[in-house]
Amino acid sequence: MYNWKQLGEHLLSIFLQPNCPLCGRSAEAVVCGNCNRQLEQCRFSEGKFQGKRKIPLLVWGKYEGSLKRAIAVLKYEQKPEMARPLGEKLGETWLQRATFPVSLKPVVIPIPLHPEKEKQRGYNQAQLIARSFCQVTGFPLHTQGLKRIKNTEALFGLTPQQRQKQLDRAFAVGESLNLQQPILLLDDIYTTGTTIQAAQMTLHQAGGKVLAVTAVAKPEKTR
Ligand SMILES: [Zn+2]
Repeated sequence: MYNWKQLGEHLLSIFLQPNCPLCGRSAEAVVCGNCNRQLEQCRFSEGKFQGKRKIPLLVWGKYEGSLKRAIAVLKYEQKPEMARPLGEKLGETWLQRATFPVSLKPVVIPIPLHPEKEKQRGYNQAQLIARSFCQVTGFPLHTQGLKRIKNTEALFGLTPQQRQKQLDRAFAVGESLNLQQPILLLDDIYTTGTTIQAAQMTLHQAGGKVLAVTAVAKPEKTR
């Protein structure tokens, strides 16, 4: 039985329960059951790929339909709460299909945004995804492991050479990173892999070891 205080809190929690960021209807969890089912349809049955420089890449789902919309909502519609279910899904998949023993517990480094861009958006979506990913996997999170020192233009529509040039010296290693620890790089979308590769190179040149790369979404076909 509720006492009045609990009842009040319960009613308040219903009242304050934010709506599903994907459809706007009221939801029990962050995302409503219906939208969650649509998200699940984007999941790769086998999300293991080979990333750049032969590093294993694990991706949760296809960058299309509901998942594409969820990432757009997260990035461009000021719905940071959308990061949580995405990070949890990726974390659960990681525990099931890890490409190395999970006991290795790599330090998770989200791909950083340039400080100016992060200020504009108010958050870095990859960092928020990484936070909930780490809650599920128990891996340590290092949000300052990498810094973005060059404010790159959107890479969409650029040729591979132009992308490469844009990302040349775009990253620097964070002072507080212990380079002895194995690293797992995390991003929201893996398109051509150029961004992650640039981050990987920066860590590699500093003596760091990137064990694997992971992303929430990847287009089924990439150039
Ligand atoms: Zn919904």
